[in-house]
Amino acid sequence: MLLQIRNLNVYYNTLIGWIKVLNDVNLSVEKGEMISIVGESGSGKSTLGHTIARILPPNSKIQGDIVIDGVNLAKLKDSELQKYRGTWVFMIFQNPLNSLNPVKKVGFQLLEAAKIRHQRDGKKTDEESLAKEVIEVLKDLRLPDPYSIVDRYPHQLSGGQVQRIVIAMALLLKPKLLIADEPTSALDVTIQAQVINLFKQLNRELNTSILFITHDISLAYIIADRVIVMYAGRIMEDGKVEDVLKSPMHPYTQGLVASIPTGDKNQSKLNAIPGNPPSFFALPMGCKFNPRCNKVIDICKQKEPNIIEKNGRRVRCWLYE
Ligand code: ATP
Ligand code: MG
Repeated sequence: MLLQIRNLNVYYNTLIGWIKVLNDVNLSVEKGEMISIVGESGSGKSTLGHTIARILPPNSKIQGDIVIDGVNLAKLKDSELQKYRGTWVFMIFQNPLNSLNPVKKVGFQLLEAAKIRHQRDGKKTDEESLAKEVIEVLKDLRLPDPYSIVDRYPHQLSGGQVQRIVIAMALLLKPKLLIADEPTSALDVTIQAQVINLFKQLNRELNTSILFITHDISLAYIIADRVIVMYAGRIMEDGKVEDVLKSPMHPYTQGLVASIPTGDKNQSKLNAIPGNPPSFFALPMGCKFNPRCNKVIDICKQKEPNIIEKNGRRVRCWLYE
């Protein structure tokens, strides 16, 4: 087991008071697992990523445990986190420029990443071999002309190139856990496919565990072995991606799956789930999905179901309790 999240609650302080944006999140990740986290906008996906990477903004509060390789990151002070950020947990953002320093050349930043890993692993390596390693990684990523790329500043690269530089950084750091938050949504489709293959390669060759955040459940199918469905800050369903897509248990997941475009032109309209996710300031009583659910029963409006586990699947729904 690489990561174990137990009873995690996360709150933000806003202008009109505290909101609880993650509620009772429990999640175990094995070494080498490739997991996709899906859910509509505002369901708390990025908050979950930022919480694990311990990069939440100051107006936030964490309760619960986030244990990676025996270290409870949730209990560490900011001053103690330095050692773990980036090297244990590395996060890639939708805008890859957020992962890079705008005033330092790309080559310098990649060299730093390689150096940090060698230090972490207790190796003493000279600059020359580190530089060779950087160039090798860039060649592996099929970046054209790596010698010219290392000499540029991040803003002098295209979006797809920057995202590949950030992946190069991950390859050099070899983090225990990589969290990628919509890393391909700003790229055009051909580059998107290349970048996705790089994540798969990273996962296969280095056995890196990856949490891949996306609102697109069909992308989750392409990339991940396991999918976690979030709604209003809760995990609603969790299981092998084939199982969840073939036979979604939660009515919310059923709605997401039904809304995947089939590619059939006769499909007259997309089957969007009616209504909108609730505001964290006015969550409904009972199951948070009940106002939009087409299988709602009385109890759903009164009491929130627990998440229950059955045959390696988890679901939070009264239909199964
Ligand atoms: P998206 O798909 O749009 O990226 P998401 O699933 O990543 O959505 P989050 O960004 O985690 O969702 O946001 C969850 C909730 O927390 C939202 O209601 C959002 O407005 C709120 N939120 C996020 N960051 C903050 C913050 N720094 N301060 C206050 N509220 C926040
Ligand atoms: Mg987000």
